[in-house]
Amino acid sequence: MNILLFGPPGSGKGTQSALLVQGMGYKHISTGDLFRENMKNDTELGKEAKGYMNEGKLVPDSLTIAMVKDALSRLAGKSFILDGFPRNIPQAEALDGLLGHLNLNLDKAVFLEVPSDKIVARLSGRRLCKNCGAVYHIEHHMPMQKGVCESCGKGPIYQRDDDKDEAIQTRLKVYAESTAPLKDLYQSKGKLSVIDGDDEEAVVYKRIKSQLEA
Ligand code: AMP
Repeated sequence: MNILLFGPPGSGKGTQSALLVQGMGYKHISTGDLFRENMKNDTELGKEAKGYMNEGKLVPDSLTIAMVKDALSRLAGKSFILDGFPRNIPQAEALDGLLGHLNLNLDKAVFLEVPSDKIVARLSGRRLCKNCGAVYHIEHHMPMQKGVCESCGKGPIYQRDDDKDEAIQTRLKVYAESTAPLKDLYQSKGKLSVIDGDDEEAVVYKRIKSQLEA
């Protein structure tokens, strides 16, 4: 089964994708992670994407779609979970074209629903491991040993530039204008599953899993 996960920034897409990869063996395609990887390696794509990302804006569709095309063409028969793509209607249309071309099918679009007041608290307190991407939060989950990641033993633990206040506001606006309309689109295709994402990670994961198995 091939799925995509979408929702407001900070709705837990990355965390839930990681659990789905662990539990169900999906190939994870996260456009945000791919851009961050390119930025870390200082590639041309990373340099182009950096300004948009740090301000909380969408990277232009042409760059994003080309990157997804490349990732989808290297699946080698594995089921995929698309995390953070598509983020607007033109990307969703491009995705249909890419999948058709590769003879692949999208089975479900899983929407993670989280109230907006919770979103801001989640994003502004979020911290990540620079080495492995493990996610922490300043209020309820930080490494026991300051600056040392509990997943990989390395670090440092940092705050994403786009998790700072001004960028958060931009991301929420971009989400409302560009990404939220995808809900109606996938509803009309009969592929939408809405999941209450306002709970502990493990509880949300169970909800997603039972929807996928239904
Ligand atoms: P994420 O890790 O999914 O929150 O994405 C972080 C940032 O990467 C976004 O705020 C955008 O700047 C960029 N990005 C990720 N996915 C996309 C996409 N599908 N289209 C355009 N920009 C994206």
